[in-house]
Amino acid sequence: MPSTSPYCGRFAPTPSGPLHFGSLIAALASYLDARSHQGRWLVRIEDIDTPRAVAGADFIILEQLKHHELHWDGDIIYQSQRLERYQQVLQQLESQQLTYRCACTRKQIKSLGPYYTGVCRNKSVTTEPAAIRFRNDDPILQFIDGWQGTVTLEPAFAAEDFVLFRRDGLFTYQLTVVIDDIDQGITHIVRGEDLLTATSWQLNLWRCLAQQTPQFIHVPLVRDTHGRKLSKQNHAPALTVTDAKDQLLAALRFLGLTPTTKLSLTQLIEEAVQQWQAKYFHATNPQDTI
Ligand code: GLU
Repeated sequence: MPSTSPYCGRFAPTPSGPLHFGSLIAALASYLDARSHQGRWLVRIEDIDTPRAVAGADFIILEQLKHHELHWDGDIIYQSQRLERYQQVLQQLESQQLTYRCACTRKQIKSLGPYYTGVCRNKSVTTEPAAIRFRNDDPILQFIDGWQGTVTLEPAFAAEDFVLFRRDGLFTYQLTVVIDDIDQGITHIVRGEDLLTATSWQLNLWRCLAQQTPQFIHVPLVRDTHGRKLSKQNHAPALTVTDAKDQLLAALRFLGLTPTTKLSLTQLIEEAVQQWQAKYFHATNPQDTI
């Protein structure tokens, strides 16, 4: 029977390589939260950063999800196929005077301090190439996270005029993730803690583009023995098909659940949905802090 729950969650991997244990945690947490709310769970391939995308990685990621019994609803969206839509929204923000052009190089920005200081705000930059920045006049300094509680941002960071369109001609993750989440009707964004601070900027865009904001839930990151986030850059090993059950068991334990070892993969997921619901039933109402 189709779901009647308003809940819609998603997993949005960047196809820069196969999933590793850290990305399994994000996928699994978002899946469990969606299913424990009888919600939909979508998968979106975030291949907007074309230099980072690796050919064929999307296929491997989707296979890895299936091998871990994480089955999604509906069609997969690819960001690389939505450029017109991103352009349209960027123009909308421009027409609302919420953007400006900036021709600063990375080096110039760095020489002025850790955050972009808004030096191009009141210039009319006509040179190319230029980035397009968000005029962040009303920064979000605090929000409620479903896992972390009240999150307070460093004001200088939260108020940065972040980039929507890069000097090298690419739409940014910050812009595209918000447009896609809005267009796909996402109500709950469950992902890793590394994206906690970016949420302030994203919420700001949500406020400009949507009626309601989603609930954010940032789960803890898996770290290596040096305390670094497990990532492709840090050579985290890819998930393997043959170890799917052990990987799933370890991921469930990492998320604070107590899986029954002798169950099959399908049964483990069913059990985990029940446990997640009992342990972490997050509020279904979108947050009301803005
Ligand atoms: N594509 C991002 C990543 O792979 C995740 C984006 C998100 O969940 O908002 O890190």
